Amino acid sequence: MKALVKQCRGADGVALTQVPEPIPQKNEIKIKVYAIGICGTDIHIMRDEFDSNPPVTMGHEYSGIVYEVGEDVKDFKPGDRVVSLTTVISCGQCNYCHAGLFMLCESRLAIGCGINGAFAEYLVIPADKAFKIPDEVSLEEAALCEPLACVVRSVIERATVKAGDYVYVSGPGTIGQLTMQAAIASGGKVVVGGTSIDGERLALASKLGAFETMLVNKEDIFIRTKEITNGYGFDVAFECAGVAQSADTCIRLLKKTGLYAQVGLYGEKIMFDHDLALKKEITMTNSFTSTRTSWERALRMLKYGQINMKPLISARLPIEEWKKGFDMVINKTGYKILLLPDDERQ
Ligand SMILES: [Zn+2]
Ligand SMILES: [Zn+2]
Repeated sequence: MKALVKQCRGADGVALTQVPEPIPQKNEIKIKVYAIGICGTDIHIMRDEFDSNPPVTMGHEYSGIVYEVGEDVKDFKPGDRVVSLTTVISCGQCNYCHAGLFMLCESRLAIGCGINGAFAEYLVIPADKAFKIPDEVSLEEAALCEPLACVVRSVIERATVKAGDYVYVSGPGTIGQLTMQAAIASGGKVVVGGTSIDGERLALASKLGAFETMLVNKEDIFIRTKEITNGYGFDVAFECAGVAQSADTCIRLLKKTGLYAQVGLYGEKIMFDHDLALKKEITMTNSFTSTRTSWERALRMLKYGQINMKPLISARLPIEEWKKGFDMVINKTGYKILLLPDDERQ
């Protein structure tokens, strides 16, 4: 079958190649992949800025249809529409595993970097890591449940937004748009910030419910923030851009005792004014991927229409055109790019 494999370290280490079809073990399901989103993390993996275990099939934001089940699998049958956790292997014995925080386990293996992922025609995962997709949710929308689950982990399980909070979201890309929607669903008044190249993205944020938008390189955002927030600054700021300057801006725009939440991944060490965070008694939260509960909540939010995923799908490409898709992500063209591994669907 076709698979996009990180074959070795180095810039040219990724290639679309033929690999054997995986065979499900007793407790596993074999999934025919329908669509896979290209994630910023995939770019970090390609560039060796994020740990991986080559040779490994990349891809973790997917939806698919169960094709075959192992003999001990009771909860799934061929034809079921599914998504799954990204952390599919963990020790099951440590404090983190006992607490359901599989992504923090020292033995963690995630699809797409630690073990074979979804940029392929089929993948195999343990059945207890999969979730059925609600009937109301399309396979394309479900492919983006993974970034939504990460956002739920940050906005609802870690940072928490309260009704009436003034919330700042820095970076109007896919993660920023999802963070904004989750914060609105939680009762926040959300202001989204971007630069002048983000005009269209900020317009979409407004359409999807942003309270205000700000051009961080064009206007005095400190004065705007004071006007919007009755002089105090934001209660919560989400850094979704993964850009050092944006981290600094978030800390400056927060009110004293505000909450800073890191959602984006920088891919490098960054500098920001931590003394200012100290003087303002800023609380910081970080979130790393997602838990089972974040997935269950993300699927419910999609089912009940609390998240509008459709405008965030901006291109569908056959998997053969993966390079074009990766370049679109690198150049920040559109939002989510889906790769389709099945020839018949293209
Ligand atoms: Zn991702
Ligand atoms: Zn563990």
